[in-house]
Amino acid sequence: MARPLSPVHGPYHRGMRLLLLGAPGSGKGTQATRLAAHFDVAHLSTGELLRDEVARATPLGEKVVSFMLSGELVPDELVEEVIHDRLLAAARAGGYVLDGFPRTVHQAEEAYKIAREAGATVHAVILLDAPDEVLTERLLSRAQGRSDDEPDTIRRRLEVYHAITTPLIDYYRDDRGVLVTVDASQSPDSVYAAILDELPQLVPPVGLEPTPGGF
Ligand code: AMP
Repeated sequence: MARPLSPVHGPYHRGMRLLLLGAPGSGKGTQATRLAAHFDVAHLSTGELLRDEVARATPLGEKVVSFMLSGELVPDELVEEVIHDRLLAAARAGGYVLDGFPRTVHQAEEAYKIAREAGATVHAVILLDAPDEVLTERLLSRAQGRSDDEPDTIRRRLEVYHAITTPLIDYYRDDRGVLVTVDASQSPDSVYAAILDELPQLVPPVGLEPTPGGF
């Protein structure tokens, strides 16, 4: 059921800029799709963009496919190749929801540079938090859908998340002060409602924004 527009929608007519952080299976894609529609901004998923390159057998797709199939991260420079122009365009247009990017500190610094270039750094980073058992169960239950949802690859993707991506939690909490944590083991509707409830505390209404920080 579609949730009516929340009161936070109005003040953000110039564009909401969100980043979803979370392990594989935490529901980033589902929430990002809804949030992007709600705020009428671009939804940028590096996973989707990379899968599309693979499906079209582009030179970039050929370079990234083995990393994706084994559950490893694609090297930063290849990810940045697929996201750079799109993020810049979305930032210039005023809003975006980033899903699955950045995933390394290097990518976070890149994202910050790109967004700064457009004068549109992130308003809030939402950490979708859930125990590994919940994530594994979810990923296994969709295993028909994606070639990297095999049990061994799932295990590896979670290890990679804990080893490489969790440092971003501190980066955004401590350095930027833009992090909010939501319990992602709830139903998708409850997670979505929790995100919309948290946003007004992190994102000041238009006219009261601080100097661009973000990312
Ligand atoms: P996702 O759909 O976000 O779970 O991404 C699927 C796969 O694409 C990941 O397991 C990685 O191999 C690759 N990938 C997606 N986004 C990134 C990123 N920001 N950095 C490195 N690899 C990525």
